Amino acid sequence: MATTSSVCCYCGVGCGVLVESEGDRITGVRGDPAHPANFGRLCTKGSTLHLTARAEGRLLYPELRATRDAPRRRASWDEALSHAADRFAQTIARHGPDAVAFYISGQLLTEDYYVFNKLARGLAGTNNVDTNSRLCMSSAVAGYKLTLGADAPPACYEDIDHADLIFIAGSNTAWAHPIVYRRIEDARARSPGLRVIVVDPRRTATAADADLHLALEPGSDVALFNAMLCVLITEGFVNRDYIAAHTENFAEVERVARTYTPERAARITGVPAADIVRAARRFGTAGAALSLYCQGLNQSSHGTDNNAALINLHLATGQIGRPGAGPFSLTGQPNAMGGREVGGMATVLPGHRDPANPQHRAEIARLWGVPELPATPGKTAVELFQALDTGAVKAVWIACTNPAHSMPEQALVRRALEHAEFVVVQEAFRGAETCAYADVLLPAATWGEKEGTMTNSERRISRVRAAVPPPGAARPDWEIAADFARHLGRRLGRDALSTFAYRSAEDVFNEHREVTRGRDLDITGLTYGLLETLGPQQWPFPEGAQTGQTRLYADGVFPTATGRAHFHATEHRGVAEDVDEGYPLRLLTGRLRDQWHTMTRTGTVARLFAHEEEPLLTMHADDLAGCGLRDGDLAAISSRRGTAVLRARASKELKRGQVFVPMHWGRGFLSSSGANELMPSAFDPRSFQPELKHAAVRVGPASLSWRVVAYRRLNEDAADTLAVLRAWMGVLDYAALHLFGRDDTCVALDGAARGPLDAKTLAQLDRLLGMASPAALGYEDPARGISKRVLVVSDRLIGARLAGEVAGARWLKEVMRNGMAVGALRPWLLAPIASSATPAAARGRIVCSCIDVSEAEIRAAVAGGARLEELRTRLRCGTECGSCVPELRRLVTEAVGARAARAAA
Ligand code: SF4
Repeated sequence: MATTSSVCCYCGVGCGVLVESEGDRITGVRGDPAHPANFGRLCTKGSTLHLTARAEGRLLYPELRATRDAPRRRASWDEALSHAADRFAQTIARHGPDAVAFYISGQLLTEDYYVFNKLARGLAGTNNVDTNSRLCMSSAVAGYKLTLGADAPPACYEDIDHADLIFIAGSNTAWAHPIVYRRIEDARARSPGLRVIVVDPRRTATAADADLHLALEPGSDVALFNAMLCVLITEGFVNRDYIAAHTENFAEVERVARTYTPERAARITGVPAADIVRAARRFGTAGAALSLYCQGLNQSSHGTDNNAALINLHLATGQIGRPGAGPFSLTGQPNAMGGREVGGMATVLPGHRDPANPQHRAEIARLWGVPELPATPGKTAVELFQALDTGAVKAVWIACTNPAHSMPEQALVRRALEHAEFVVVQEAFRGAETCAYADVLLPAATWGEKEGTMTNSERRISRVRAAVPPPGAARPDWEIAADFARHLGRRLGRDALSTFAYRSAEDVFNEHREVTRGRDLDITGLTYGLLETLGPQQWPFPEGAQTGQTRLYADGVFPTATGRAHFHATEHRGVAEDVDEGYPLRLLTGRLRDQWHTMTRTGTVARLFAHEEEPLLTMHADDLAGCGLRDGDLAAISSRRGTAVLRARASKELKRGQVFVPMHWGRGFLSSSGANELMPSAFDPRSFQPELKHAAVRVGPASLSWRVVAYRRLNEDAADTLAVLRAWMGVLDYAALHLFGRDDTCVALDGAARGPLDAKTLAQLDRLLGMASPAALGYEDPARGISKRVLVVSDRLIGARLAGEVAGARWLKEVMRNGMAVGALRPWLLAPIASSATPAAARGRIVCSCIDVSEAEIRAAVAGGARLEELRTRLRCGTECGSCVPELRRLVTEAVGARAARAAA
């Protein structure tokens, strides 16, 4: 068995992992105790990474189709890349370089990103190279540049240990960055004086755990931050000496802030004026105030202003450049930072340069050995898909991202991909929705199979290492891009042989390193060898440095023309699309604890569905009733752009007038594109980041009275079974797929329709599930539209399909999940039996997925008086990765509150 140190490929915390492998198989993963991002800890997602490292469901060989109507066929790498190069070269020759585009990903390694960027700008001659980081971090980029002069998060994780106040805005850190949250929990346990304030419209796990929760109206962050600044000014908490010595434009910001009195802001934000004052006083009196922020600020049609207004608070109080202080954006994706460093976005050039700056373009052209770089601004993500739709862009190369799920306004994106003349998709997982649109499909290596580097939220560069070779003919992304460049160069008559002659990821890194020389992120002192001996390092790390720089701007000098930080005055603008009579509810979107992005990877692990098995539409209980719904009903949610059907649940997390849908589910696991079907394409004019957090919607009953539920134990054929079920579920008006099981993986289909499906369609489902066997037991009652089938093999239930009457479904699921012997239960398998009436009672939602402890078991324990420590010792929940601990605390607090209420009554 071999052990390879690498990095988790999910969020921007950038945890170090030790990957265990035997031969070409990854067998386990542990947290790396030596990595400074996590010191050995991993969350639920990171600790199950090895379960995602399987050949099933992977793309193994290049495929291409000569025409849109033809099926794709297997091809060699040379044939596939030659075909792609022909089509790209023809498009450039006929329509110019801006008729082609590259849409890449914050999940690529820095080396991959670098080569794609050079391919687009240095060879194809277009700035049309953008990334899914546009959906994630571009407002943070714009906010930093506008105020501090460079896209450089000034703080680091260590600052959590030194802060007196942690101000979390627009981030459910407990779920989206769990290992950062573990560090916050440790700091709170060590320092009882540490206070946590959370700004979020929802009472998330993070908000419920806070000392103060400011539940603002969506889109009102600027008003809140301006009002806090107003209090800081009027109560004398601003640091006039710091402002005078190190900043500019405060007078303008002060003038604007004074107009946002707490009372005015309370009317805009819905946050009580007293709470605004409390928050401001905490900020103003903190010895060190650290802000952590993420998509809640960024994914807004004025995300840059949101960022700038928060940074204004830090500049006004001098809360920056010191231990425990600073505005610290948490990156959503594992290498969004690396992409920003190499210029992997249309709006930036390598080394934090600007494509609109002729000198910067000339510098990069010289370093790359090309005559010039294009001056025409490149299309950012939303613009790029709009241009594909109109035909302005004709050929697109999509790598390591899934826009047919992740982009807003999915109807437009689907249309754009259908209108495109030529689509290349470079991807690891066959199940990614975007693969369906590929004219050329290229198999990419993925986590555990690639060499390179990634940069996490705190500017720390880590080595990513390959533990095993990629399966089939899959190749590293940088290698595919470089090979394509050589093919394209020949057709364009340009020298790509020498400019893309990399032999290894290290060759690419060394070239990238040189591009940073003299820039704010200078890493000319770093090598793969140094990263090997010193471990992960923060930038800047210039030539001659002994170590990276922990935090920035300690000297109060900023990388602006004047050396001063720039206060940026901001006004409240609200949301892009407000509610009205037709669409009276506010849809909020967000992430769940155990899923990642579009589920191409986490959607292959059964235990990651145990916390939330389907995408629930949650809303206040009064709104649920007002929409004519009961808890658990199927609801239709519509915006001006589309409709999705989802199961509705009452939630105490939401204020009246708001609904929440998680962003992970798309057509891979659902009969609609989920939340992103509904979101608008509106974007911030500075950062070009779309408003993925808010849309105006209406909700009502879906009126789908006929149900079908099917379960099937999966073998090696898991990916194939999922694929055929995905294709079949189009016959239903609602369908959701999920996996379940602990040792064995089973798939569940939950579907509904307006009326019964005909016998032929149900028989087709039985065949797809392998249940058409004569050995299957059946029950038919056509008059009542009821049809059931179960398959028992070797006294184990391996499949069940219930249609028209599904009362026994959860019990059957539990029988299958437990793998229990059917034995004497056989006569009951087709009965409409309630789950609680059987020995295998349904356990329901699993809160602790490491130890497999259900919410029901925890509620029973806390109802008996158990507190957190007792839960840990008695049930062992929360003792492994710790991701469930905020929820355990909430369940304990709720039980204590309920007991107190009963006692008072
Ligand atoms: Fe991976 Fe979890 Fe660490 Fe994020 S917090 S990098 S998902 S282990």
